[in-house]
Amino acid sequence: MSDSQCLSIPKCSVMVRRVAVVGAGCSGLACIKICVDEGLEPVCFESSDGIGGMWNFRETPEPDRTSIYRSLVVNTSKEMMCFSDFPMPSDYPNFMHNSQLLQYFRLYAEHFDLLRYINFQTTVRSVLQRPDFSLSGQWEVVTINKNGQEERHIFDAILVCSGHYTHPTLPLSDFQAKSVFLQGMKPFLAGVFTAGNIKMQMPSQEKGWWWSALAILEVILLWRLADRPRR
Ligand SMILES: Cc1cc2nc3c(=O)[nH]c(=O)nc-3n(C[C@H](O)[C@H](O)[C@H](O)COP(=O)(O)OP(=O)(O)OC[C@H]3O[C@@H](n4cnc5c(N)ncnc54)[C@H](O)[C@@H]3O)c2cc1C
Repeated sequence: MSDSQCLSIPKCSVMVRRVAVVGAGCSGLACIKICVDEGLEPVCFESSDGIGGMWNFRETPEPDRTSIYRSLVVNTSKEMMCFSDFPMPSDYPNFMHNSQLLQYFRLYAEHFDLLRYINFQTTVRSVLQRPDFSLSGQWEVVTINKNGQEERHIFDAILVCSGHYTHPTLPLSDFQAKSVFLQGMKPFLAGVFTAGNIKMQMPSQEKGWWWSALAILEVILLWRLADRPRR
C-alpha cells in the first residue's frame, strides 16, 4: 500500500507526508505550523518576497496581490485576532496599526521557525490531480520562480491559503460612479472603492504637519464658500 492510499483509510498507521501550502499570509503561516505539529512535511510557496500577505503594506498596489492603505488599523481586537498558541505582545494596543500586525506575524514565524519551509518569489501556477489520483490521492503542482523557471512537484495534500480579496467584486451594474467632484462648492467623493485602490494618505506623513493644516484649511474654505448665501 502506498503512503498516499492512507488518505482515505482513517486507521492507517502511515499518514500523508508532503503538503503544499500556497501563500504565506497569516493563514499560510498557521497551516505550516500545524503541519509541522502533526508530523507532516509542509512546503510553502509564496509569490512575494515576504510573509504577512495583505498585511505586508506596499505603497504601490501590485497585480494579483491584496493591498491595504498605509493608515489601516485592524477592526478586530488583539485577543480575537491572535493565534491561540502565541499571544500578541502585551504593549500592543487592542486595535493595532497594520505594521504592528505584520511585526506580530514575523515574531510568530520566527518563534516557530517557519521561514525555512517557505519558498519566496515562487508562484503556484496550477494545482491538478495526478492521472492516478483515484489511487494515489496525489496532486501535481506547477510553480514558477523569480527567474521564470518552471518546476513540477508532487504532493499528497494541498492547503490553499492564497487570500480572497485579491480580485474585487464590485456592484458596478448597480452603481457606476467613481469620482471626486465639487457639488456646488462642496467637495464630494462618490464611488465604489476597495482597500487596494484607496491610497489616500494623511499628507503629514510625507510633507509635515503644516501641509495637513493647509489641506484642512482648504476644505474648510470650500465648505464656507458653499454655505455663503448666493446673490
Ligand atoms: C482592507 C482589509 C482589512 C481587513 N481587516 C481585518 C481585520 O481588522 N481583522 C481581521 O481579522 N481580518 C481583517 N481582514 C481580513 C483578512 O483577509 C485576514 O485578516 C487575513 O489577512 C487573510 O489572510 P490570508 O493569509 O488568508 O490571505 P492574504 O493575507 O491575502 O495572503 C495570501 C498570500 O498568498 C500569496 N499568494 C496568492 N496567490 C499565490 C500563488 N498563486 N502562489 C504563491 N503565493 C500566492 C500572496 O502573495 C499572499 O502573501 C481585512 C481584509 C481587508 C481586505
